Amino acid sequence: MKAVVFKATRQVAVENVPDARVEQDDDVVVRVTSSALCGTDLHMYDGRTGAVPGMVLGHEGLGIVEDAGPAVHRVRRGDRVVLPAHIYCGVCFNCARGDSAACLRVHPGHVGGAYAMPGMGPFRGSQAELVRVPFADANCVVLPGTPGDEHEDDFVLIADAWVTGWHATELAGVRAADTVAVFGAGAVGLLAAYSARLRGASEVYSVDLIDERLDKAAELGFVPVDVRQGDPVEQIRELRRARTGASLPGEEEMGGVMAGIDAVGFQARGRSDLGQEDPRQVINDLARLVNPTGRLGIAGVFTTTDAAPAPVGGHADGSLRVPWAALFNKGVTVGFGRTHDRRYTTHLRDLIISGRARPGQVITHHESLENAPGLYDRFDRRVDGIVKAVFTH
Ligand SMILES: [Zn+2]
Ligand SMILES: [Zn+2]
Repeated sequence: MKAVVFKATRQVAVENVPDARVEQDDDVVVRVTSSALCGTDLHMYDGRTGAVPGMVLGHEGLGIVEDAGPAVHRVRRGDRVVLPAHIYCGVCFNCARGDSAACLRVHPGHVGGAYAMPGMGPFRGSQAELVRVPFADANCVVLPGTPGDEHEDDFVLIADAWVTGWHATELAGVRAADTVAVFGAGAVGLLAAYSARLRGASEVYSVDLIDERLDKAAELGFVPVDVRQGDPVEQIRELRRARTGASLPGEEEMGGVMAGIDAVGFQARGRSDLGQEDPRQVINDLARLVNPTGRLGIAGVFTTTDAAPAPVGGHADGSLRVPWAALFNKGVTVGFGRTHDRRYTTHLRDLIISGRARPGQVITHHESLENAPGLYDRFDRRVDGIVKAVFTH
């Protein structure tokens, strides 16, 4: 089968590799119809998170079940399925409570597993013609329709981007009438903003520094905040003052936002030099912006081993200097971590089927698998207006 293979830092190739096949009785093999490219792929591509040459990349796959082991009961050959990025067994102590990102069985000796991520198990990725799905009854979300129909772009985002965005709003406890700021307007940030609005947020601000992402945020109805125009915290406070006419008497301290989301992670840009990374920047901004009693959701990736930490503020072991006292004094709740796919995927699918949600609007580019080397390069350099790209197989 053809697959996108990691070769070396900033080098991928489309190669023939051994076909994915049923290895355990509860596996299926899926013929991929769409697979998405993700910022997490770039962490590997950039040589930051320890990808091993030869890895088949991709953790956001959608397709048709082609083969199934004898112990698979819930899905059948021919079913259309989307494959959540974080693989889980479905029945262990953590999975049983819905904490599937902390599955205890999928990658023995570790907590949690995923397709095509260093340290997350031996699972090959879905930027390939075929992909093996372990614990298939748990890890296939069955879908209606046929490949290439009007929901192909919506459904592929259930594999990771939308689920992670939704999880960020869950971590930040977003509820009706909340004011929400999302740092990062890549696919996850935009879909966190989208989720916040679905959950009833009154105002949603989308912070970034790339034109096409800010344009997409505006197109989707969020208030774009351009970091290149100055301190985003002051910009949002000013926008809120303008919106409410003036601060309501006695409520001036609540002129920030009730919920803040980090959809950037450890590769945040520093304010003093937007060309340089500073992994402390977003949490510092959020600590200033969040209201007393507010909530933060940290969904951007932070890595425990960084092969090339930022010279200012970065550490190879992932440690970070954060404004702990400011968060304490405001009584802020902070939530972290990878999405527990088990909790959300079927609900988000049903929002798509019912017509309430069209997350596929964030996808800007479709490419064939053969074009992977060029697409990785352009996405990595943030050129060509790529917000979210999908390989159409
Ligand atoms: Zn992803
Ligand atoms: Zn489990």
